[in-house]
Amino acid sequence: MKVYENVYIDGKWVPSTGNETIDVIDSATEEVMGRVPQGTAADVDAAVAAAKAAFPAWSTTPVDVRAKYLRDIGAALAGRYTDLVDTISGEVGSPKAFAEMVQAGLPLGEWDLFADLVESYEFEEQVGSSLVVREPIGVVGAITPWNYPLYLIICKITPALAAGCTVVLKPSEVTPLNAYILAEVLHEVGLPAGVFNMVVGTGPEVGAAISSHPDVDAVSFTGSGRAGAEVQRAAAATAKRVGLELGGKSANVVLDDADPDTVAFGAVFNCFLNSGQTCSALTRLLVPESRKDEFTDAVVKRASEMRLVDPKADGEDMFSALGPLSSRAHMERVRSYIQKGIDEGATLAVGGPEAPDGMDKGFYVKPTVFTDVTADMTIAQEEIFGPVMSIITYTDDEDAVRIANDSVYGLAGGVQSGDQERAVAIARQIRTGQVDINGAMFNSVAPFGGYKQSGNTRERGRWGLEEFLETKSIQLPV
Ligand code: NAD
Repeated sequence: MKVYENVYIDGKWVPSTGNETIDVIDSATEEVMGRVPQGTAADVDAAVAAAKAAFPAWSTTPVDVRAKYLRDIGAALAGRYTDLVDTISGEVGSPKAFAEMVQAGLPLGEWDLFADLVESYEFEEQVGSSLVVREPIGVVGAITPWNYPLYLIICKITPALAAGCTVVLKPSEVTPLNAYILAEVLHEVGLPAGVFNMVVGTGPEVGAAISSHPDVDAVSFTGSGRAGAEVQRAAAATAKRVGLELGGKSANVVLDDADPDTVAFGAVFNCFLNSGQTCSALTRLLVPESRKDEFTDAVVKRASEMRLVDPKADGEDMFSALGPLSSRAHMERVRSYIQKGIDEGATLAVGGPEAPDGMDKGFYVKPTVFTDVTADMTIAQEEIFGPVMSIITYTDDEDAVRIANDSVYGLAGGVQSGDQERAVAIARQIRTGQVDINGAMFNSVAPFGGYKQSGNTRERGRWGLEEFLETKSIQLPV
């Protein structure tokens, strides 16, 4: 068991001013795997003061020096890879192969990407008689969720540090242990004191203190719409920039010229990845009425092959293995959504709300597919954040687009077709921040973010860097 007693402020590990602690639970064994301090608003005050004091020097540190720090962090973090895999696999419940490839693997590459990006970024341009300069926004508060805990921290702090901002991080209280490993690495590489600070704790205390703090210039938040609205309310009085990355209920539109078996593999993976705990999961599968049975049969067959596994087991195929959900409360919430789907009249094709056979420990939910879902049902509208797919039929392409857009969310989407041009034409009509054609690969330098209630910002690549920049016009005499 890992016990951490300190928070990280001004380049030092210091005790929290509070006396409470938070237990971190292993999602598969249900045992306490770690303990961290429950930080306080006073800790946030100290962390923000340190970040504010460090800002003048860090923001004027030459870009190539900042980029070197980023590359050093990336290399040092890679040295903690095994530790990260084991930790995240326990905290989140991600099967080892997925934890290796995605949870621990994906974040490692971001440091070099942002180092390269910031070195080539044009911070100044001449516009008529003005010199327009982009400057770091100041002290950044980063508040992050538990589902891809390390990657989502890194999507914020890497561009923020690259831009020349200083940071106060509040990782999710459900999965704080990987953030401690990251903070240890940042300490070891000798980042100047106060440039990075971390206060672990609950949203209503630590998150709210960051959001409302007058010396925090921007808050970058990823999480639920409910908490995102709280952050905006708390931030309103100080007019700080608030970037929100929120939930989704994304549609995967299967056109009538697609191949059922090809569709089935990708559709199931993109819905159930990380046990469905993925903001951009494609949880609504839209199939043409004319070929409903073919697509449904292929998807249900593939979903039936998914297996619930011990996340620590070696040799599991990442595409077929699902771990437990992150917490008991979340497991119960997901199971109650499945029950609601049954109660509202959808047809349960595979899965269900009961505990899976033979799994008497761990927060497991059966991979579940509903057919005969109508767009007005709760399972077609609300984000479930578990391994639950809703199959909805449509009449023609126009109807498919209408259903895809019939959501308060607008985060992601997919289009499957034998004709790429036709698929792209549909993608252009879907009101979301990204759309994948025929299971196209994730691209970590393309912008990521949501329309509508899925958020108001973009992370990754140049767009992610610009979230942490202010713009100044210097008018020059002509
Ligand atoms: P959550 O909203 O419960 O928590 C997210 C973070 O906000 C945590 O650190 C939490 O402590 C903090 N928080 C909670 N209340 C707060 C408050 N009043 N003030 C300030 N901070 C507060 O979300 P979660 O359960 O950790 O994550 C799941 C949600 O995150 C889902 O809705 C998912 O779709 C969303 N998500 C979105 C993206 C994206 O990029 N769009 C990525 C991953 C997850």
